Amino acid sequence: MSLLDFEVVRLKTPLLPRLVPALTFDAFGWCESDWLDWRRDESFEVTSASTGENPAGMAFVFLRECPYLPRELARLHVGALARPSEWALAPYGIDTATDELYRYLERPRDVLCLAAKNLDALVWGLHDWCHFHNHGPFESPAWTEAQCDASALVWLWLNRALLNVGEPVWNERCRQFLEVARERFVREGLTLDESLYDPERLRSLSRTLEQPPLF
Ligand SMILES: [Zn+2]
Repeated sequence: MSLLDFEVVRLKTPLLPRLVPALTFDAFGWCESDWLDWRRDESFEVTSASTGENPAGMAFVFLRECPYLPRELARLHVGALARPSEWALAPYGIDTATDELYRYLERPRDVLCLAAKNLDALVWGLHDWCHFHNHGPFESPAWTEAQCDASALVWLWLNRALLNVGEPVWNERCRQFLEVARERFVREGLTLDESLYDPERLRSLSRTLEQPPLF
């Protein structure tokens, strides 16, 4: 019996091909993502909707000191998913982490793990995980966000058995993310390629990533 109130689950997060215009990223896939350690507890639930608001119950907990990133006590955000003395990336520090991890060429999983209490928290954590591995000028946020959304949704699908997320729940999450994306593209006066959020297209992409290596 563990003394901790949470368990750590390793999620598959393989690099997706770039789906959005090349100019969105100056260093797409500078660090190839492969997995993410996720802390969960028994209260994990999959009904919390994704509306584009900051998720409750989510934090990237530091695995070691990272003095160039802003931090707050992890327990403030995720309660018992962190030890009392642990620090987490400050919620306002996602963009800073995207810039600085790239600047220091620091592999995100060497520094951070994700604590997430519900599906909304988890899927936005996956979205941010994509940011951390793909540096860009951020001149066209809507397209950058779309690549991160697609990655998060594909990673959710790849790990659905571990998460106990069925196809209807996953389809609904794709629809919720599409709604958020529509607003971003309208704000920037751009035209969204809605096929980026098409469940069949994303599932098909997932299958290509699930292929075992040839050698
Ligand atoms: Zn984002």
